[in-house]
Amino acid sequence: MSNPAKPRLLTGDTPTGRLHLGHWVGSLENRVALQDRYECYFLVANSHAFTTRAERPDEIRQSVLDIATDSLAAGIDPARSAIFVQSEVPAIAELTFFFAMLLPFNRVMRNPTLKEEIRDKGLGDTYPFGFPLYAVGQTADILAFRPEVVPVGEDQLAHLEMTREVARRFDQLYCGVDPATEDDAYVARGGLFPVVKPLLGRVRRLPGTGAPGPDGTLLKMSKSLGNAIFLSDDAATVERKVMGMYTDPARKRATDPGRVEGNPLWIYHETFNRDAAWVAEHEEAYRNGQVGDVAVKRKLVEVLNALLEPIRERRRALEARPDTVIDVLRDGTRRANAVTEETLALAKHALRQDFLPRRKLDLG
Ligand code: ATP
Ligand code: MG
Repeated sequence: MSNPAKPRLLTGDTPTGRLHLGHWVGSLENRVALQDRYECYFLVANSHAFTTRAERPDEIRQSVLDIATDSLAAGIDPARSAIFVQSEVPAIAELTFFFAMLLPFNRVMRNPTLKEEIRDKGLGDTYPFGFPLYAVGQTADILAFRPEVVPVGEDQLAHLEMTREVARRFDQLYCGVDPATEDDAYVARGGLFPVVKPLLGRVRRLPGTGAPGPDGTLLKMSKSLGNAIFLSDDAATVERKVMGMYTDPARKRATDPGRVEGNPLWIYHETFNRDAAWVAEHEEAYRNGQVGDVAVKRKLVEVLNALLEPIRERRRALEARPDTVIDVLRDGTRRANAVTEETLALAKHALRQDFLPRRKLDLG
């Protein structure tokens, strides 16, 4: 199944809920499109889900299955791409420990995505030790695959930057790579880990359907924030969410001039409505108080349901074969273990800690 001629692609999701439209434009759409060009690995980061919901293991378990189902329904082809469970890939946890030594503690705590999550998820100062550790773990999630490309949304850039730092530091310390080396030459100069590149989706950060946060900026659509339209929502739910979504709060009636910039209703149209002429014409009318929110929302319901219908249809087919998802995860995890065990052996060799050859994992 694995084709060494193809470069690898790695990305993933935390099982804290189901996949939504933000995932679609931020990463999933690219995943589906790149399956031919890359050997793809999609991680379901169940260990990381425990950072914010350690007391809800049943929910995490269900969410692992939901995310795998959503990915398949969205068009991930399990014959080409591996979907796998993080906690069943031990090399990732082992690399995390070594990588944690390569990042200064204060560097991790300054990571802007962690700070944003602490603020937006209301974690205060009660989050567990493992919360910042997840960002370090993510460097291992990625580097364990030595991928060429990592498709992510904008919020992940800070984590990708830490990953790049770990790769450079490891390669310099343990593989003798000269610190003056250009980022894309690390492997050619003897490094084990590539200085990986993020691939942003066509929308870097889709806002949610709710009101802005306390500082006035729109919050990103997020499974944890209750502001998401899910790929698994039925047509009536999509309609309810869109009809109730936040738009321009200053606009009281359809004849008031409306604000287009920074208005999620228009951000969604610009993102999902392929009829660019309709969007341009109606944005103008909205600005001039010639079209109401309701009409624009109705059109959006139509557009979103047209996008989601084929996904719903594939989901119905999957629901008729309940063992499919577990089989896909088992096979994907086996393939992920094959790659990451090889990386771990090479890393231990570079670290001069290759004392005992590793037993073969029981991979089910
Ligand atoms: P959580 O709220 O638990 O953090 P999430 O909705 O942020 O969940 P993740 O699993 O953290 O989802 O993210 C999975 C991938 O989807 C990441 O690459 C992330 O950047 C991308 N992504 C998530 N939300 C959005 C969004 N609103 N716009 C664009 N990309 C997004
Ligand atoms: Mg997130």
